[in-house]
Amino acid sequence: MSKGRIGLIVYLGDDPQKILDHAKNLGFDNIQAGLPHERFFEGVGREELKAIIERSGLEITTQFIGFEGEDYSTIQRIHETGGFVPKKQREKRTALARRVVDLAAYLGIPQVAAHIGFIPQDRHDPDYADLTVRIREIGQLCKKHGMTLAFETGQEKATTLVQFIHDVGLENIRVNFDPANMILYGSGDPLEAVDVVGQYVGGVHGKDARWAEPGKRGKEWGTEVPLGEGDAHWPELIAKLKALGYTGPITIEREISGDQQVEDIKRARAFLEKYW
Ligand code: MG
Repeated sequence: MSKGRIGLIVYLGDDPQKILDHAKNLGFDNIQAGLPHERFFEGVGREELKAIIERSGLEITTQFIGFEGEDYSTIQRIHETGGFVPKKQREKRTALARRVVDLAAYLGIPQVAAHIGFIPQDRHDPDYADLTVRIREIGQLCKKHGMTLAFETGQEKATTLVQFIHDVGLENIRVNFDPANMILYGSGDPLEAVDVVGQYVGGVHGKDARWAEPGKRGKEWGTEVPLGEGDAHWPELIAKLKALGYTGPITIEREISGDQQVEDIKRARAFLEKYW
């Protein structure tokens, strides 16, 4: 049986060369990329970035979009500040997303991904329609370039996400499945969620977490832990991904920094290699 691919998510930031060297030195051949500094978005900066990526030999499977002003200090704060949902930020963030799609197309990256934000559970919420229109525009731009647009899981229930995908109504919409986010946000059991979003999975984050105490789920953060030590039940999850026919990479995400992050990434890969 062939081995599944394992990747790493890294943030290109100010020094993409250094970041890509880091991923390569850890032995990865594919990554998901967080945003580079804006000077790499257009013109000579963009050419420079393309050359750096080509020289690295790394495959970038997904370009992630994140936004200035997103506040992850509490679930309530990210509810207010996350993704495309905050009305005051929507225009600006949609414009940024369009620029990122153009950049990713130029770089030959086949998928762009983002948290949408806390999608209203009630699709008759007056704001739901506008959100749908904005995301559809970004999805259509991806489609024009032959790319997919993936929604990161976690901030809403899987059923809400699937409803939203149907309402956006494009065939190039995918889900970047992050089981740990489901646990951290308290938005549902990932083993059940993967069945709900199954046909849309176009990316997976290799991350793990423990639930907040019962009664506090969805109000207080769960706790991110090294892969295999949390409540995501990775072996069962991988069995489900295989049954779904998912053939893309599992992209390791460990949201800490320093030596411990490197250590945990190596251990996560060793764990995943046993099952994937
Ligand atoms: Mg994630």
